[in-house]
Formats: sequence, C-alpha cells, structure tokens
Amino acid sequence: MKLREHLQITVRSIKLLYSLSRRYFISMTAESVGRAVLPYVPIYFSARLIDALAAGEPVEVLALYVALTVGLTALLGLLNAWLAAQAAIGSQENYNASEWLYAEKAMGMSYASIEDREVTLLRERIKMESQTGYNLWFLVSTIQEGVGNLVQVAASISLCASFFAISAVSLGAKLAFVAGVILTVAVSSLLTRKDALIRNQFYAEAVGWNTLDMKFSQYLENYGSGKDIRLYAMEEPLVEFNKSTILSIWKKEAKMDFLRAGLRFLDTVLNHGLRLGVYLLLISAALSGGLSVGSIARYASCVVLLLSAAAGLVYNIQMSLVNDQYMKRFFSYLDIPNPMYQGSLTIDKRDDCDYDVEFRDVSFRYPNTEAYALRHVNLRFRVGEKLAAVGMNGSGKTTFIKLLCRMYDPTEGVILLNGVDIRKYDYDEYMALFSVVFQDFQLLAFSLGQNVAASARYDRGRAALCLEKAGFAKGLGMPKGLDTPIYQHFDPQGVEISGGESQKLALARALYKDAAFIVLDEPTAALDPESEYEVYSKFNQIAGNKTAVYISHRLASCRFCDEIIVFHQGEIVQRGSHDQLIGDEKGKYHELWNAQAQYYSKRA
Ligand code: ADP
Repeated sequence: MKLREHLQITVRSIKLLYSLSRRYFISMTAESVGRAVLPYVPIYFSARLIDALAAGEPVEVLALYVALTVGLTALLGLLNAWLAAQAAIGSQENYNASEWLYAEKAMGMSYASIEDREVTLLRERIKMESQTGYNLWFLVSTIQEGVGNLVQVAASISLCASFFAISAVSLGAKLAFVAGVILTVAVSSLLTRKDALIRNQFYAEAVGWNTLDMKFSQYLENYGSGKDIRLYAMEEPLVEFNKSTILSIWKKEAKMDFLRAGLRFLDTVLNHGLRLGVYLLLISAALSGGLSVGSIARYASCVVLLLSAAAGLVYNIQMSLVNDQYMKRFFSYLDIPNPMYQGSLTIDKRDDCDYDVEFRDVSFRYPNTEAYALRHVNLRFRVGEKLAAVGMNGSGKTTFIKLLCRMYDPTEGVILLNGVDIRKYDYDEYMALFSVVFQDFQLLAFSLGQNVAASARYDRGRAALCLEKAGFAKGLGMPKGLDTPIYQHFDPQGVEISGGESQKLALARALYKDAAFIVLDEPTAALDPESEYEVYSKFNQIAGNKTAVYISHRLASCRFCDEIIVFHQGEIVQRGSHDQLIGDEKGKYHELWNAQAQYYSKRA
C-alpha cells in the first residue's frame, strides 16, 4: 500500500470514528492526553521539592511544591476519571452506531449483493476481524496509545532539554546519551514490529478458526439442529472435531506466546541496559558537580518515559499501517455500490388498484452464472386477475417473482408498470405495491401484532382482522392476544408456533400491508390439507380487487385461478385456464397434472 493510500484510509477512518460517536472520540482522546501528562506533574514538582530541600528553602516554598504536586495530580486524576466515564458511555454509543452501520449497509444493498456469496464472505470476514480487535477497534486503541505516546515524547523531550545546556556534562556524554536513546528506540521498535507481525499472522488465521468455532456453537446450541444431533448421535463427531480444532489453535497460540515472550525479554534487557547507562551518566555528571539531586531524579524518570513512549509511538504507527489493510477491506464492504438504477418517478396511489404489469421479452441470468434462469418471458397481467404459476422445481417461478418485485433487474428485456419501465420508478414506492409471502419468509421474535404489521406501532383492529382472514384467529386467543411474543429469543414467555401457523402469520402480514399486488410463493407448503383448502377457497375473497400471483407445486390448488402459466426450463410454455390446459394432452400441464394425480391416487 502506498503512503498516499495509507493517508487517505487513516483520514477516512478517523472521520468515520468521529461520526459514529463524537462523545467517544473526544473523551477517549482527551483521556489519553490526560493519562499521558499525569506522571509528569509529580516528576517536575518532586524534583523542584528535592532541590528546594537541598537548598534549604523556607518551609512555605516546600509546602507550595507539596501542595502543587498533590493538588494538580488529584485534579488531573479526577478529570481523567470523568473523561474515562464519558469514554465508557461513548464506547457503547460507538459500538451501537457501528452495528447500525453494518445493518444499514445490508439493508441498503441490492438484493443481488445480499445473495452474492463473495459479499457474504467479505461481510463475515470483516465482522470477525472486528471481533478479534481489528479495524475500527484497533484504530481506537492505536489513537488512544499513539496520542498518549506523542504527548509523553514531547513532554519528556521538553523536560530533558535543559540537560544539553549543562556545561559540566561533556559533549561526548551528551552525544552518547542521544545515540543511546535513538538506538534503544530503533531496536525496540524492530522487536515490537516483529512481535506485531507474529500476532497479526496468528489473528489472520484465527479469523477462519473463529468462524468455524461460531458455526459449531450454532450447531450445538441451536434448538433447530437439536433434534438431528440427538437422533443421529452427531454430538460426538462434532465435539471431537471442535476439540481437535481448538487443540491446534492452542498449540499455535502457545508457540506464538513463546516467541513473543522471547522478544519481550530481549527488549527488556536492552531497555534496562540503556537505563543503567543513563543513570551512570547522570551520576557521573552529578559527581562532577554539574547536576542537582532534583534534576538527576527528573532526567532519570523522563528518560524512562521517553524510551517507552518513543518505542510505543513507533509501534503504534506501524500497527496503524497494518490495520489500514483491515480498514481497506472494511471500506471495500461499505463501498459496495447498489447497481440497481434508482428512478425518481412517483407511482399514483390508486384505490382501484388499476396497475397493469407487462413482462416484455424478459430474460435473466443470476450474477456470476452462465445459464439463464428465465428466457424470453412475455406476459401481461390484467388488473385484479388471479394468476397462478406452476412448473417443476427450478423451472424459474421464484425468479419470475423476484424480477416482478425488483429484487433483480432483467438481464435482457423490460418490465413495464402502466407502460413505463419499472426501473424509472422510485424504488421504495415500487416495492410498496407488493405484498409477498416467500417460501423462506422470516418472522421476528417480536409480538404477534408487530409481526403482522411489520411495525412497532400499528392498528390493532386491522391486525386482528388480517389474522382472522389468514385463518389464524387462534393467535388472538393466545395468552396476551396481539401482544403475545413469538419465539423465546427475547422473552421467556414467548410462544413457539408451528410451521403452518407461521405461514398463516406471514399471510396475515401480507394482507396487513394492503398492497395492490399480492404474491404467494408456495405459501401453503407447511399447511395441512384442511388449512390449505381454507386458504385457497377463501383466497379470491381475501385478495379482493388486488392482482394476485400464486406459485404452487400442487396443481390442484391452482384450479381456482383465472389463468395459469406453466414454466419449464425458464420459459413460459403454456398459459390458459385449467380446463384449457388440461385439454392439451401433449402439453406440460397435462403431464404434470397426470404425474401428480398418479401420485395422489397411489397414496390413497
Ligand atoms: P422454482 O421457483 O421454479 O423452483 P427458481 O426460480 O428458484 O425455480 O430457479 C430457477 C433457476 O435459477 C434454477 O436453475 C436455480 O438453480 C437458479 N437459481 C435460483 N436462485 C439462484 C441464485 N441465487 N443464484 C444462482 N442461481 C439461482
């Protein structure tokens, strides 16, 4: 990475940290300065006190120095404690804001990016790196330590400066002093660099192990996998595998710790060797009468602080350069563009739902794939029509819905709403036209009512009505009615609902949205035949004047639809009413119908 890029990343990182929580940024930086300055107060005033004692100064002067030492130290200590408290509160603020940063990014991404495996891997990696202390968190500690180091280097140099003006100390001794300091800092920073590299390498590998470990915990602790684990006695190989992974991490960590201890030992020997040299130098200067007792104490303490601060500063600069690689990856995630063209046309809000949709020669390939999932789809829906899409698994039905709802844009061709390319409309307004129940819909561990309304505040009467329409009136009879929490993630009193019940709940959510189009993608897969019949027979009434699109693998369920379109290998191969389609004995529909009829009659 070039210096220019380092600078850009550093500036952007600092700006980001500042924007996440100003309180945190300011208080933690100020606290670092306060903490760094603190030891210099007693160093400076104690030296003055010793000199005043040696010179036999009056007791008032001595008392003043004592008062200044204790008073200023206490004041600074109090200020630091207050800043530390502010920083602790700010740290939480900063953490929450950074979590939101991830969440907002994920929500603002195109659906194509969310499904993209590369993006998922990148997100997992940077989240894991952040948990192992890199990117933003590393930046925080680098700033905290680096600022402190900088302050101490400046303070130590200014307090040592008078040493060079002492004529009793020879020029050679002064040069030896400077050379000693530079040498120690240089070697010390080389050693810490080596230490940082070893640590980095370990943590870079740890990202992979941590991901693995997290997946294990999920398997072992998640009740979803609990049944399989027990029935197939899977815990033994899982635990065994986990143990062996942990063992190999421990071995590598022990090796790393050993190496690092060796480096620290070298560093300590070197540092103390130099300190000894400085003491000898100062003592010889004092013996030759060139130094007061107080200044010996002051110089000695300052040199010790200077050495550690200068080495720390070099180390933190090096580490921030290393962390720039992590920040770069972090920013590359934040910078993933949303390639969906965002139009600005507004959509008329029509009570009569008079929206007309047309697929004009639409073909589609998923990103990074060669095969077309949809080919030359031409279709126009009449307003209020009840349309069913049938076909074998993988024939393109869900993809058709994803395109209709603008989760993806067509690779070729165009989709029109009231004659206008849907890309030209405001994205959120266009999305507001659709109520969709996907096969893999998700409910949240909030209350029943909040799930129906997809909102914290909602119309209770409307939510209850939608639950009834969706056939889940039973939910209203639950202990707390609409306020009954579902699942137990947040509330131990939460209720577990069955697959069929959750599908009804998802249907109620779609109804509550009251959009012009209602789309059900295999919505009844987990329903028992009776509930399925209930949903279908009532569906025309539920859907009212809305345009409804149904996807189902059970052909019998689609008979009630005005029109059925048959997908095969990404193409629409037939369309018409059930009676028309079944009449075409060579058609795909006939084939699928017979296959299912055979299956059901065999079972019966
Ligand atoms: P259906 O709903 O009829 O079962 P889909 O629309 O889900 O079919 O799938 C159509 C084709 O697109 C299939 O070949 C499937 O493997 C492929 N496909 C679906 N989703 C993705 C995806 N996210 N990335 C790549 N290919 C996909």
